[in-house]
Amino acid sequence: MAEISLITPIEYLKGVGQHKAELLKKELSVFTFQDLLYHYPFRYIDRTRFYKIREVNGSLPLIQIIGRVVSKEIVGEKQARRLVVQLRDDTGIMELVWFRALKWIDRILHPGLAIVVFGKPSDFNGKVSISHPEVEVYNPAAKKLGNLSLQPVYNSTEKLKQNQLDSKGIQKLLENLTELSVPLIRETIPEYVLNKYHLISRPQAIKAVHFPVDQQELDAAVRRLKFEELFFIQLKLLRNRLLRTEKFKGCVFGSVGEKFNEFYSSKLPFALTNAQKRVLKEIRIDTQRGVQMNRLLQGDVGSGKTVVALMTMLLAVDNGYQACIMAPTEILARQHYLSIQQLVGADFVQVELLTGSTRKKDRKRIHESLLNGSLNILIGTHALIEDPVQFQNLGLAIIDEQHRFGVEQRAKLWRKNSVPPHMLVMTATPIPRTLAMTLYGDLDVSVIDELPAGRKPIKTLHLYENQRLRMFGFMRQEIAKGRQVYVVYPLIKESEKLDLLHLEAGIEAISRAFPLPEYRISIVHGKMSAADKEFEMQRFVKHETQIMVATTVIEVGVNVPNASVMIIENSERFGLSQLHQLRGRVGRGAEQSYCILMSTNKLSADGKIRLETMVRTNDGFEISETDLKLRGPGNIEGTQQSGVLDLKLADLAQDQQILQVARNEVIGIFEADPGLEKEENQLLREYFNVRQPGIHWNKIS
Ligand code: ADP
Ligand code: MG
Repeated sequence: MAEISLITPIEYLKGVGQHKAELLKKELSVFTFQDLLYHYPFRYIDRTRFYKIREVNGSLPLIQIIGRVVSKEIVGEKQARRLVVQLRDDTGIMELVWFRALKWIDRILHPGLAIVVFGKPSDFNGKVSISHPEVEVYNPAAKKLGNLSLQPVYNSTEKLKQNQLDSKGIQKLLENLTELSVPLIRETIPEYVLNKYHLISRPQAIKAVHFPVDQQELDAAVRRLKFEELFFIQLKLLRNRLLRTEKFKGCVFGSVGEKFNEFYSSKLPFALTNAQKRVLKEIRIDTQRGVQMNRLLQGDVGSGKTVVALMTMLLAVDNGYQACIMAPTEILARQHYLSIQQLVGADFVQVELLTGSTRKKDRKRIHESLLNGSLNILIGTHALIEDPVQFQNLGLAIIDEQHRFGVEQRAKLWRKNSVPPHMLVMTATPIPRTLAMTLYGDLDVSVIDELPAGRKPIKTLHLYENQRLRMFGFMRQEIAKGRQVYVVYPLIKESEKLDLLHLEAGIEAISRAFPLPEYRISIVHGKMSAADKEFEMQRFVKHETQIMVATTVIEVGVNVPNASVMIIENSERFGLSQLHQLRGRVGRGAEQSYCILMSTNKLSADGKIRLETMVRTNDGFEISETDLKLRGPGNIEGTQQSGVLDLKLADLAQDQQILQVARNEVIGIFEADPGLEKEENQLLREYFNVRQPGIHWNKIS
């Protein structure tokens, strides 16, 4: 056979052969030696602990026991024929049962023999027993019982199991493989980094992750491999950022000018929070360096991102540039337009709104004024990145609710100017820190972590269906105080028909409980035309209606400070981040606000945790952490292209500390050696030249 390498096809491994090789490829995508080497165990069985018979019950996992055979007996007929062994220790007696291989077991086990038993206990007819345990003769002189203290357990499939490739079978293959291949594994992380963080070498780690000597070695191996995964994602992200700042010059917003100052001193109706001031300072520093800004602005709902966006735009205008905001929905774009107009007043700067439903005549006027430079600020939806939209001098592009837009749409905004405009992307969907560092690791991040003063925390309660009358009573009471109420229904694609029926029934029930002329109701859902939606929205904004019944179209950005009650129907069906977004529609004025989560009586375990979390906390970051733990990164918006789904061992919900350390280290490396030219960084330089085995870096954007 040819010389062995890490990419030797798997069929050349002893014990594999053609047939099993096909199965390994099909079932586990294992094509080469290294593919199998990177098929890590998903858990380990602790073979260091021994249970006493008295402690054993059917709910335990695989366990081991030391005992003495009391008796053995073959009982039953035909199919039910089995060997039953009574095992005793100093705490009790239990049964071991074999249905197959009776003869063989019968030969090795005899009364009086001390054995080690390993298997999964189960309760049967009120008696605890273990079927088909592994057994070996107890030998106290042997240093270890069994050859491993932590036995690896591998993912397998039905097909593999039928062909001797269950976890045990895979373990056998790996025993051969590690011996052959571990010496071929090369280090990927520079030695000085390994030393600094006391990380074990890569060959050592890979061997130990399969066959750890003890828990301590396993921990060290896992830590090393997690670090490596996170380190290289950060290396890639931060190098992209570095390359970008080298490649693109940015517009220079050299001075704080007239408009900014006038707005600040005579138009701003409130004092900025410290967090808002800090973020503006960060933006100010970014935009005067002559390097393109790429900044993510995270701030919980209601934290006041709009005014930060506006003041940044005024900064652009003061320096002779145009600015734009792109929002994901028409309602939201209009909201921005109205609130910005309200903030700046008439004849201060030229602001226009451009959406899919802007009239042709207005559209033409907007296009012209953009080109001749008389228009300062454009607010809009996707319409804004369409081809006919040309700016004279776009210096700043802001994207609201960034996660709703793709990379491609971001790129289109870049191309709206010869020098790419500064980018500020805003999101109210709090992202766990770990995820933000990975998803947006190539962006600079600003956080508004403080709500404007005087806001009262929203009170949240969870009511069951049979408490509906109490909910109606509460609505009446708040409406009598002059407040407004949202009632939101889920509308989910998969069950759209049923959801629409629920919505209709809900509207009917509410109309009956809140009749005209005393009560007036707005209705907004996704099936309505933009104009109708807008009309209904405006009636609510102007307080012509007291109740807004809606589907989740109102989720993002809507701002009606007098609305102080949010009722969420079928709340158990919403995800945590969506619930939090919805709740953020209230609590925007000075009044005490409430969020009522209505649910059926039957809740899933996850549903229960979600609602409990909502009742317990208003902190968006805490909520997003819980969301990440419940759903994993794969189900969180925006993760598809980030590489986090390729993580084998690292867990963003748990490994925040390792990630932070890895990221800081990478930042330090690029500061000291931006071109990775130093001898000590040779491995990192190579990393960018050679595709890394087993990790699909091409998926990382
Ligand atoms: P979001 O971050 O969710 O986009 P907004 O920008 O819509 O939040 O702000 C929510 C509300 O808070 C608006 O009515 C806005 O005028 C108000 N607001 C923003 N900043 C402050 C502040 N520093 N003090 C008081 N109110 C503020
Ligand atoms: Mg907003």
